[in-house]
Amino acid sequence: MQPFAYTANPSRVVFGSGSVKKLGDEIKRLNKSQPLLLSTPQQKDQVQALESILNDAQIAPAGLFSEATMHTPTHVTDKALQYTKDSGADCVVSFGGGSTIGLGKAISIRTGLEHVCIPTTYAGSEMTPILGETADGKKTTRSDPKILPGTVIYDVDFTMTLPEALSATSGVNAIAHAVEALYARAGNPVMTLFALEGIKALASSLPIIVNNPKDVDARSKAQYGAWLCAMCLGSVGMALHHKLCHTLGGSFNLPHAETHTIVLPHAIAYNAPKIPEVMKQLAEVLPESDGNAIQGLSVLLTKLKVKRGLKDFGMKEEDVDKAAEIAVSNPYWNPRDIEKEPLRETIRRCWAGEEAR
Ligand code: NAD
Repeated sequence: MQPFAYTANPSRVVFGSGSVKKLGDEIKRLNKSQPLLLSTPQQKDQVQALESILNDAQIAPAGLFSEATMHTPTHVTDKALQYTKDSGADCVVSFGGGSTIGLGKAISIRTGLEHVCIPTTYAGSEMTPILGETADGKKTTRSDPKILPGTVIYDVDFTMTLPEALSATSGVNAIAHAVEALYARAGNPVMTLFALEGIKALASSLPIIVNNPKDVDARSKAQYGAWLCAMCLGSVGMALHHKLCHTLGGSFNLPHAETHTIVLPHAIAYNAPKIPEVMKQLAEVLPESDGNAIQGLSVLLTKLKVKRGLKDFGMKEEDVDKAAEIAVSNPYWNPRDIEKEPLRETIRRCWAGEEAR
């Protein structure tokens, strides 16, 4: 067996339908009493449900800031920080996807306030010590153990409204974390267990959700899988797939989960010659793969009825060269060396929406 280092994720996880009712107890457990609630404008109505749950626990929220938005712009964080100060909040509760959780992290790392997350997508930010922020149109990412939220409440009931299309792409976003954990340089056997179990749970539940978004069992299974995949993202370094998505998303303003979904089979195909054992493991947890992980993924994406080309999201053909330039200009570890021409071809296939090979 390969030598490895393993650091356990210290967050507290409360999982299950109705678990959001324990929010008051979780806040009291932290010896706090005045939570500031965070959401996007789109989820303002949903997050208001937390106010009565907190009132039942004799907790009066300090306030609600519902201006979280994509890429955690610092001007929004500055406004939220002022609101936090004025409201007298002693902790923050982020309710939503990666965008809202990003704002919660940005407030928590600047103020030292405890951060409780209630994730409503499968993106996985709640389990990572990573924060991406945008200032003057430039996105920077940093990692610090203090960024990791202390408490995460996974309540399936709040994922029921996640639209089918976003459920599919957000779920594949989660699968991507686990896939890259399987070949991560700092990988370890515990993460491999989490990764394979996470992929299996999502690959079996997402097609059910796309056909019946109200299937609670499938939703629960997907959320369980998303948690495991998120732990992978928070524990080991990512490689080509995540770097490519970061480059594409940041440089060409492409949507996060959809970009992950399009790129994943192509990134795996690029790395496949150097990771034969991982390809076998992956094939075993992807239904209808016939021993071929790329085929398994293609079957899954077909069932999920997702868009397959970056051109569908406004990327121009001439951006393919630019993307390849950026992707090779910033060297990082990957199982296969980052070579410009093959990578350019990989990006072109992502752009065109061709099958991965
Ligand atoms: P998101 O948070 O941007 O949400 C997308 C939209 O869906 C928003 O309008 C949101 O309000 C809505 N939504 C979310 N849950 C819903 C629900 N249950 N019902 C109805 N609407 C709902 O999307 P995301 O994919 O979760 O997050 C993407 C962002 O998170 C990106 O900026 C990405 O960089 C970041 N991210 C960061 C990390 C990290 O570790 N730092 C990890 C993953 C993602």
